[in-house]
Amino acid sequence: MAVGFRPPARPTWYRRLPAALQRVAAASDRVTSLPLGAGSALRDAVAGLPAALATGRPQDVEAVAQRIGNGICTSLRVPQVVVRVELRRPPTGRGELHGLYTPANGRGRDVIRVWMITAKRGHVVAYRTFLRTLLHEICHHLDYTYLHLRDSLHTQGFYQRESSLFHALGAGDVDSS
Ligand SMILES: [Zn+2]
Repeated sequence: MAVGFRPPARPTWYRRLPAALQRVAAASDRVTSLPLGAGSALRDAVAGLPAALATGRPQDVEAVAQRIGNGICTSLRVPQVVVRVELRRPPTGRGELHGLYTPANGRGRDVIRVWMITAKRGHVVAYRTFLRTLLHEICHHLDYTYLHLRDSLHTQGFYQRESSLFHALGAGDVDSS
């Protein structure tokens, strides 16, 4: 074995999962990136996100966020997801809720909610943070619709897929000022 190489340890919470969910977690970890072909329309939508956030208007941000969601779902050939942008993050026991994915489970449509104002200080969420949250929730949608997993868990593979979307969108290149 090569000196200095250590595979990343699996988080201990995996072992506390029921056997069926451990299999889901293992399947989730096997996919570390998503083959997103980000065309110019999708990149333009991402580039328009800082200006939309700067308006402070949820309907403006929602229109851009929906375009991003539609572009990703179209590229990966999965059913669309409804994106709703709301104002102030709801407080939770440990902090504040950034986003939420609710699968339809046979009733209505899959819905993502993302909040654009911080709970504590009432500031508009930073562009990269908002985009990360949106992509995080889209990854939950893709776990079911693209990878056909029975559950969507916050595995190492999940976060790697989230990062792969972030980079495929050229998000690091957009000036957030
Ligand atoms: Zn999540």
